[in-house]
Amino acid sequence: MPKWLDIAVSVPAHSQVGGLLTYASDTDLALGQLVRVPFGNREVLGVVWNVHDTAPENSGGHKVRDIAGALEGVPPLSAHWRQLVQFAAQYYQRAIGEVALAALPPQLRDMTPVQLARRLKKKSVSNDQPMAALQSPWPLSEQQQQVLAQIDQASGPFLIHGATGSGKTEVYLQAIARGLAQDPQAQALLMVPEINLTPQLEERVKARFGAEGVVSMHSGMTGPQRLKSWLAAHNGSARIVLGTRMAVFASMPHLKWIVVDEEHDASYKQQEGARYSARDLAVYRARLEGAKVILGSATPSLESWHQSRPAIEGGRYLRLQMPSRIGEGQLPFVRRVDMNHQPRKTVLSTPLIAAIQERVAKGEQSMLLLNRRGYAPVLHCADCGWKSECSHCSAFRVFHKIDRTLRCHHCGFTERVPRACPACGNADIAPMGRGTEQLEEHLSELLVDVKRPDGQAVRVMRIDADSTKLKGALEAQLADVHSGEVDVLVGTQMIAKGHDFRRITLVAAINPDGALFSSDFRAPERLFALLMQAGGRAGRDAAQSARSEMWVQTFHPSHALFEALKKHDYPAFAEQQLKERLEAGLPPHSFQALIRSDARTQAVAQAFLNQGNAQMQSLLTALNEADAALLSEVSVYPAVPMSIQRVANVERAQMLMESTSRKALHKALDVLQQLLHESKSDPAHKGLIRWLVDVDPLAI
Ligand code: ADP
Ligand code: ZN
Ligand code: ZN
Repeated sequence: MPKWLDIAVSVPAHSQVGGLLTYASDTDLALGQLVRVPFGNREVLGVVWNVHDTAPENSGGHKVRDIAGALEGVPPLSAHWRQLVQFAAQYYQRAIGEVALAALPPQLRDMTPVQLARRLKKKSVSNDQPMAALQSPWPLSEQQQQVLAQIDQASGPFLIHGATGSGKTEVYLQAIARGLAQDPQAQALLMVPEINLTPQLEERVKARFGAEGVVSMHSGMTGPQRLKSWLAAHNGSARIVLGTRMAVFASMPHLKWIVVDEEHDASYKQQEGARYSARDLAVYRARLEGAKVILGSATPSLESWHQSRPAIEGGRYLRLQMPSRIGEGQLPFVRRVDMNHQPRKTVLSTPLIAAIQERVAKGEQSMLLLNRRGYAPVLHCADCGWKSECSHCSAFRVFHKIDRTLRCHHCGFTERVPRACPACGNADIAPMGRGTEQLEEHLSELLVDVKRPDGQAVRVMRIDADSTKLKGALEAQLADVHSGEVDVLVGTQMIAKGHDFRRITLVAAINPDGALFSSDFRAPERLFALLMQAGGRAGRDAAQSARSEMWVQTFHPSHALFEALKKHDYPAFAEQQLKERLEAGLPPHSFQALIRSDARTQAVAQAFLNQGNAQMQSLLTALNEADAALLSEVSVYPAVPMSIQRVANVERAQMLMESTSRKALHKALDVLQQLLHESKSDPAHKGLIRWLVDVDPLAI
């Protein structure tokens, strides 16, 4: 009896196929089975999505092709997994096949059934050992016990709001350990923003649970490593998956626990293809699988904070508080330096320099945060006004003194620094503004006479995307900080995240003001999180915590954000922000989507979007009443150039859609996507390159 199968295959984005193609098969295949199918003149990997007993009515006269073979030996993907993929595809407006195939390890796509069978035979060490990791190395704190008891009693989702160093990680590990001990098959997913920034966590988890049952999943792994982890999770032998956002799609047939650490972190949002939020999908997946999910942060996203308001006000998450640090640990004392009282163009204020010198002399470490890499963001000619613009982008190229280059951080265009102004020949072109390279140089000069307690010269180190380009460089740099080799650490936000540095007693934000007046409504939220996170690196050793300090150099010392920071008062900050957002009708009080288009000219990019919207509005009268009513709940704003309008010679525009109803927003997206598909080849849109949809965008 032949069967007709809808197979999810990876198709180009926006193709009309929707990612499911029909094939025939002589044998019965289970839903979720991995298969290989002919596609054009290639053979590709696919997943069985639907099975029909009768031939499709509408095969357009084409002969339905036979599948090439099934990947036996790999059990089918579960119904829950397929449901997760289907939901993500629909919610983030992409094809099912694209999402499904992107969620599988890349190596699986290129393997024949024979190769895979060989691969599967190679490893067959099963480990059914129970995971006895209940024993914490320390007695749990009162606070940790209370939170664990609540997690035990309620069903969640949970939001742990816990100060940096309050022992959240220990709570995650304990919750997982208890869950795994209760059920010998249960699996847990522990998600972190960026694994390479927290190698310590991986060690800690493996040390606790045994390396056997723990696998990692992140993009830094090789193809064979990823396949190995994936198979271990899929066949259940991995009890714990530790991974970045991609791990939310890991196939885990017995998933019972999900933890999203640093849930506010922007890296949980995928920025290409299906632009999913791994945090939001984690909550969805937990409900689907009947798993418990714990989100945790010292500075939760305002979305999650809002969700965890009291249930009688509509909150759906249970908020669990861990306000105090472990032991006698205290949060750093916050000092604001009013830069209005410093000489013009001061980089490091006099009291801050003195405080750093004092630290060095005592053998303690300092950390300076400046969110801009390179030497200076612009090179400038004072005679004619020339600036180091990128010829391909509407942005300046950044001056890197180390290799004397001008580099565009958007398209990568790099040139040697010109000897003289390219416009007027003036030999005296100068850097404007400052980045981490310059701060590092400046500090080394300022501290040249300061000695460490061992009599040696001070050591300044810079950590940013440039210093860590080579594989292993970041690990080596971090090791130098941990071992005490380094006295002063300079870096971008990279150094603020997660690290358990033990000897830092001073953290300073050099120039954080930019975000206070940004046009992006989420900029203050990000700044506050960054500063709290950075401050959390100070005084992690309780013995030093009483003296630890967080310095903020600012021209707006009495700004509400810094007032809240001073008191380590996230709730006050969140309340004030949520009030502003409510008044402005912004998320989490509304839902947004961005449609972005890229084209040869800005006019074409904008017209494509505006015309789509105009068509949608004119459809309103033709739709049935219910749909028309839904669509009228959506505001669509005219297309505008993106803040960096041109990148690599491509003009970019975006159109914002907003609604208080998710359902209405999605209805509008469905209608609009259809219209955009239909009009994309219209000669009026000549020069259009692509468009994409970003649902719940993080940056506007
Ligand atoms: P967070 O994730 O909230 O920043 P961690 O769980 O990393 O906090 O804990 C901070 C530090 O305290 C870590 O070095 C951890 O090993 C230690 N720690 C955690 N729980 C306890 C405890 N109950 N007793 C003593 N030390 C603890
Ligand atoms: Zn000039
Ligand atoms: Zn460029």
